[in-house]
Amino acid sequence: MKPMPELFDSHCHLDFPEFDQDRDETLEQCRLKGIRSICIPATEARFWSRTLKLVNQKSDSVRRYVALGLHPYFLKNHEESHLNELKRCLIREQESVSAIGEIGLDYALPEPNHERQLHYFVRQLELADQFNLPVILHCRKAHDEILKQLRHFKLKRSGIVHAFSGSEQQARHYIELGFKLGFGGTLTYERARKTRQLAASLPLSSMVLETDAPDMPMSGYQGQRNTPTRLPLVLQQLAELRSCSVEEIALVTTENASSILAKPLD
Ligand SMILES: [Zn+2]
Repeated sequence: MKPMPELFDSHCHLDFPEFDQDRDETLEQCRLKGIRSICIPATEARFWSRTLKLVNQKSDSVRRYVALGLHPYFLKNHEESHLNELKRCLIREQESVSAIGEIGLDYALPEPNHERQLHYFVRQLELADQFNLPVILHCRKAHDEILKQLRHFKLKRSGIVHAFSGSEQQARHYIELGFKLGFGGTLTYERARKTRQLAASLPLSSMVLETDAPDMPMSGYQGQRNTPTRLPLVLQQLAELRSCSVEEIALVTTENASSILAKPLD
């Protein structure tokens, strides 16, 4: 029997305090389950150093990719000065930062303040363009606006739309722009018909796996902290939905995530 190809969790908040008690143990468990790469997107300026610490920590168990950015969900905590701080950080930490994220638009917030969200999003797309970095995108009820901005910026290294839940047409537009779409625990819920249908029909070459841990618990684990060690459940579900082998899904989705996040050779 051929060994199982490596897995890549393309979206996991491993820097969150929920993992303070057992972060190393969790990474070791990941390694044992074949999860050999994890992308950790930051959310707020005050946490960037904590996120960066994870990538600089020496460990050969699991490769860690860090994204720095200002997450739209935490809009009220962002300040104009954080954008300059981000730029300085990108210059200083060029070796450690793999992407700009988690950035985007969240128009499902109770007080969405579209204008302010758009300001931070566009300024961070400018930085991605300037530093030739991919982006990790968060989007709720704003795919058309995000697509409009992406068409304008034409980022060379594109990025990943995390926890994709848009329409098939929107998915195709992202794919045309070179983006990969992230699928996670939502797939484990039978009621998530639309997302399941999409995950079954999109080209595998455009898909990546994610857990979004500690958020987005999988079916059967509601009310518990989600963890990256449950990534194989997403893999299994996707293989079932697409009637193909887990090996093929693992191989292709890991390649897809690496193609976006690994530093290109000059
Ligand atoms: Zn996230």
